[in-house]
Amino acid sequence: MSFWPLVIPPDDHDGDHRYIHVVGASVFVDDRPAASTWEVHCIGVVDGQLWWAVDVPRDADDPSYGASLDLRDFYGRAPEHHWLAAGRAVQIVEWARTHRFCGRCGEPTQPAPGERAMRCPTCGLLAYPRLSPAMITLVTRGEPGPDQQVLLARGAQWTRPMYSCLAGFVEPGEALEDAVIREVREEVGLEVGAPTYFGSQPWPFPNSLMIGFTAEYVSGEIVCDPTEIAEADWYRRDDLPPIPPGISIARRLIDAWLAG
Ligand SMILES: [Zn+2]
Repeated sequence: MSFWPLVIPPDDHDGDHRYIHVVGASVFVDDRPAASTWEVHCIGVVDGQLWWAVDVPRDADDPSYGASLDLRDFYGRAPEHHWLAAGRAVQIVEWARTHRFCGRCGEPTQPAPGERAMRCPTCGLLAYPRLSPAMITLVTRGEPGPDQQVLLARGAQWTRPMYSCLAGFVEPGEALEDAVIREVREEVGLEVGAPTYFGSQPWPFPNSLMIGFTAEYVSGEIVCDPTEIAEADWYRRDDLPPIPPGISIARRLIDAWLAG
């Protein structure tokens, strides 16, 4: 049960190969590429198999005949490390699709030898796969125990009645801990302290890395930023609203709090 990301396929791989066809942003797993002319990218070794991403061109016939799944639906149908590898496949293909020209001078780019980058032959600009770090935090109030509360919020854009941790992208030049404090202040007007790393999760929607923290309430009353948060409140263990499904690190944060 392992996933080892690679850029360059190993010379000595003597196991099976698998091909993750990326149809739009959906995936379809097969043991051979549907067309030999389609671009492929090495993804890594998954349970001893060498996995490849296959970029299915937009105008090609769908090799899955409609059976490809988007990554949210793929979750739970395969082991989690398969889902992570499939998420890598979608992100690498989408990166290659959107970096065909130099962002500085507009020349067509070429794959850089020996690394995962697109290189401009005219000005030398290198473009690497994009990864957008985002922090997510579970804020607690009060001493640990049955009366301790957590802050849960419903996003302004969410279509389901679900309550989760606060999250937001890290700004260039900002430390993760400072992003935790800033996002909580901006979204609900509270001051928090003691941001403590919890864990991380690749989140390929479209290219985030979620970095989980816990934090402790310091001061303030909840005042939601209506562009981000529809409502937010404090909840005890025995009085939780609907919380996110198991796919997300938000759920792991909440479950860890419930268990602790
Ligand atoms: Zn250029």
